[in-house]
Amino acid sequence: MSDDMSRPLIRGGGSRHLEASMSEPGTPVIGILGTGDFSRSLAGRLVASGYQVVVGSRTPKRSVALFPEEAEVTSQMEAANQADLVFVAVFPEHHSTLVELKPALAGKTLVDVSNSLQINRDGPSNAEKLSNLFPESYVVKGFNTISAWTLQTGPRDGSRQVFLCSDSHKAKSSVMQLCRRMGFVPVDMGLLSSSLEIENLPLYLFPSWRIPILCTLSLFIFFYLYNFTRDVLQPYITAGQSVFYKMPIETVNVTLPSVALVMLALVYLPGLCAAFLQLWWGTKYSRFPDWLDRWLTRRKQFGLCSFLCAVLHAIYSLSLPMRKSARYKLINVALKQVKEGVEDSWVDEEVWRMELYLSVGIMALGLLSLLAVTSLPSVANTVNWREFTFIQSTLGYCALSMATLHTLLFGWNRAFVPAQYRFHLPPTFMLVLILPLVVLLGRLALFVPCVSRRLRQIRRGWEKSQHVRFTRTDGDCHNGLEDVSNV
Ligand code: NAP
Repeated sequence: MSDDMSRPLIRGGGSRHLEASMSEPGTPVIGILGTGDFSRSLAGRLVASGYQVVVGSRTPKRSVALFPEEAEVTSQMEAANQADLVFVAVFPEHHSTLVELKPALAGKTLVDVSNSLQINRDGPSNAEKLSNLFPESYVVKGFNTISAWTLQTGPRDGSRQVFLCSDSHKAKSSVMQLCRRMGFVPVDMGLLSSSLEIENLPLYLFPSWRIPILCTLSLFIFFYLYNFTRDVLQPYITAGQSVFYKMPIETVNVTLPSVALVMLALVYLPGLCAAFLQLWWGTKYSRFPDWLDRWLTRRKQFGLCSFLCAVLHAIYSLSLPMRKSARYKLINVALKQVKEGVEDSWVDEEVWRMELYLSVGIMALGLLSLLAVTSLPSVANTVNWREFTFIQSTLGYCALSMATLHTLLFGWNRAFVPAQYRFHLPPTFMLVLILPLVVLLGRLALFVPCVSRRLRQIRRGWEKSQHVRFTRTDGDCHNGLEDVSNV
């Protein structure tokens, strides 16, 4: 008689039990140890996916009402005996209280769903400790990145990926199958040694965003203080003119584009550094310094921070004419001109400057939006590598050029007006332009044919150190110089 046939259709122990016939024959019985939030949500999802579920509790009578009718709630030992695959939904500090279940769990798959309170870098992981406690069971780490809420609402409303790892291929495969049947996407992370990484995943707080956000904030504070000193403090100290009303909108609005442009330049600067280092070393096989490695992997975040500042700048700029201060200023200028008998205040140069300035700014924002949209994984997955680099690199440099031009048009001839050097500080746009111009000039340098040819060779595996140096005999040697041949 097969295992399924020998299993009773109705299990003893209460009226809530569901017939085994509800689930397909051959479907494993899933056990859950613990009756907390995670266990309840998991039981509901498993039942909905057609599994027969048995929940093990220290006090089954107390918890029974919290579970779906179809799930059986019983003692821990009973659940361990009945189940083929067991989820350990108990906090890791209480794993040791389960040791008496060792014989019942021998040869079975244990899924450790536990999370730690703090990031653990040294190990061992909870799953490894559980595996040591139950050496005769097959421990699979997983589901810890899925919240009880996601389990309850179903995979449509939350992360669908379930990271799994185990030393037993068979146990991992069975959990992967279960995952798929529940509507999740299993991600094989390899052996149980990866469990530390999986356990740390839900504990990270924007790890790749920390430096870009710090950079954005630092730049914002620097440029805000710089603009405040020049535009608000200087008129107050030198002429007693109170223009503190500029602080919430005008000063912020000149600060935001400064941050946006510098951050955009910082997206492309590490790529240039990497290219020049490879040219200098004459190989692509030397490792970049750690700081450059980290910077290269954070370019997307730098770009998105730049995009945020650019969007805010656009919104602030649109709101400028709505302010009372702007209206009063306009009326005052008009009254003054009437008083002075000025009939036409049209200045052709100013008109052209403003038209070009706005048009180029809108273009830059449009291109930045395109870069931001294509950096979304769902969109990036629909384009191939060449298309992605075309958008992120070629169009990215176009966006940087447009934004630089936008700033140059804003500055116009102000760099040559002595009155603009308030407190001897140069206008903000001059500081802002330094980095983007360095990046654009660096990029142009890489377009020089001999440089780009050498870089292409290096990126296809050519190495300077593999060159064989042939030194001619004294008679052949001209001017005492070595002839270095490329072999
Ligand atoms: P919980 O609500 O506190 O439930 C824990 C359960 O463990 C209790 O209900 C208890 O059930 C059982 N238990 C067994 N032995 C125990 C003991 N000696 N002392 C105390 N309780 C014992 O916790 P939870 O939120 O469901 O989390 C359970 C596990 O899932 C944890 O490892 C957690 O890291 C992980 N997890 C939770 C979530 C989530 O969203 N909640 C998400 C991912 C992972 P009985 O009294 O019936 O025995």
